[in-house]
Amino acid sequence: MLSFLAPAADVAAHGPVNPWVALAYLVAGVFFILALRGLSSPATSRAGNRNGMIGMAIAVITTLVTHDIANIVEIGIAIFLGGIVGVTIARKIAMTAMPELVAGFHSLVGLAAVLVGWAAYLNPGAFGLLAGDGISAVSKVEMGLGIAIGAITFSGSVIAFAKLSGKMSGSPILLPGRHVINLGVLGAIIVLTALFALAGPADTLPLIVAVTVLAFLIGFLLIIPIGGADMPVVVSMLNSYSGWAAAAMGFTLGNTAMIITGALVGSSGAILSYIMCRAMNRSFISVIAGGFGADDSGGGSGEPREQRPYKQGSAADAAYMLEQAEKVIIIPGYGMAVAQAQHALREMADLLEERGVEVKYAIHPVAGRMPGHMNVLLAEASVEYDKVFELEDINSEFAQADVAFIIGANDVVNPAAKTDKSSPIYGMPVFDVDKAKQVFFIKRSMGGVGYAGVDNDVFYMDQTMMLLSDAKKMVEEIVKALD
Ligand code: NDP
Repeated sequence: MLSFLAPAADVAAHGPVNPWVALAYLVAGVFFILALRGLSSPATSRAGNRNGMIGMAIAVITTLVTHDIANIVEIGIAIFLGGIVGVTIARKIAMTAMPELVAGFHSLVGLAAVLVGWAAYLNPGAFGLLAGDGISAVSKVEMGLGIAIGAITFSGSVIAFAKLSGKMSGSPILLPGRHVINLGVLGAIIVLTALFALAGPADTLPLIVAVTVLAFLIGFLLIIPIGGADMPVVVSMLNSYSGWAAAAMGFTLGNTAMIITGALVGSSGAILSYIMCRAMNRSFISVIAGGFGADDSGGGSGEPREQRPYKQGSAADAAYMLEQAEKVIIIPGYGMAVAQAQHALREMADLLEERGVEVKYAIHPVAGRMPGHMNVLLAEASVEYDKVFELEDINSEFAQADVAFIIGANDVVNPAAKTDKSSPIYGMPVFDVDKAKQVFFIKRSMGGVGYAGVDNDVFYMDQTMMLLSDAKKMVEEIVKALD
């Protein structure tokens, strides 16, 4: 039925592309752009996801029917098995484990780029890359870049996965002279890629092996010095790298859809990283250069915790004071995701609003463990979007708030970010909860710390009442007391 999309060989050989194929890929690209647009707001994110799926279906079907696929049955089995694995993971994964899952998936994109690059190098004829007595210099540059970016994405994502899943310490690991080493390795990759492009067919193997090994190494070196508050930026940077790796693969395969998709993912990931850097007062260059400017002293993490006096309260105390308040600002964080307390929280907010209390939600750009983590959870609990505010829009309102209700957040309200230069979160903007008349702080125990591993002065302030319990349990008890 779709035979008008042939001839396939033209595409594989990078020759003139069938205009119907080009049109189909263009339509897929438009759907991907609509997907990104939709994903920029929780209200339109479902439509965004749908558009992304339609675009991907068009791209995959077009590729399958227009390429000389050696064994469509094998491909069908691979898609079926991969689909089962994907659906199983998507159904089972806890929301709190999403960031490491994303890092894990990025590593697969990187590895795929390396494997495609190597396959094209070892069998250029099958990819339509043979020109004269070997591969053309341009194709070798594309191949070298694809392999290098893919390898950096792979090893960087594996380290990010290990750090985010707690299999490796989240603290920065700072090697002496790391900037010189990183620059040296990056320079060597560029020079070796150029030599690879210019070398004769007999001399290329050691060069491409060296590019691959050094790129795996630099991915590792760039991510190990990044810790604490900078991990969110790294996750979106790796997302961007995975896009560029896919785009480079698209050049090697002569596939327009991959080039468009890769460039969209690469540039949107880079823009997101830039926005996050600005929101967190970090230098974009310093984060992509691997912890440039990180404090070599290692900051405050891992230091022994002081025993300081604090006030502890009960759900009944909290309910009583919340009822008396005129304005309550809720600051959710990672612990709310762990406890899955968003539905109980919404119930509590509804009860307060029925009593005339103004309730707002304050979302920090890096609250939780992935960009938009809190927005997703609040949307799941049907919290109206107009009650949810970004840091810069609500921070000035804490001075008028009767209660700052901190539920499972910690680093994002830690004043050390403003005052302690040795802290790993120094420089990150935080909520001014100390300006509220009363602070309720829900966490499980005084022993636990936030992601950055540092103590928090808010626990010990005069106006703070610690509500030590699982967040869901505590909020359910408050709801019961309010009822
Ligand atoms: P934090 O990680 O700073 O703090 C989490 C708090 O939740 C802790 O106080 C913890 O204390 C408490 N907690 C955990 N489980 C529960 C539970 N079941 N019930 C009640 N409390 C609980 O969270 P924030 O959201 O404030 O900060 C995010 C941090 O993560 C930042 O440092 C950010 O840089 C980093 N990060 C963010 C990413 C992103 O993209 N958003 C990605 C990677 C890292 P206790 O254990 O005592 O209960």
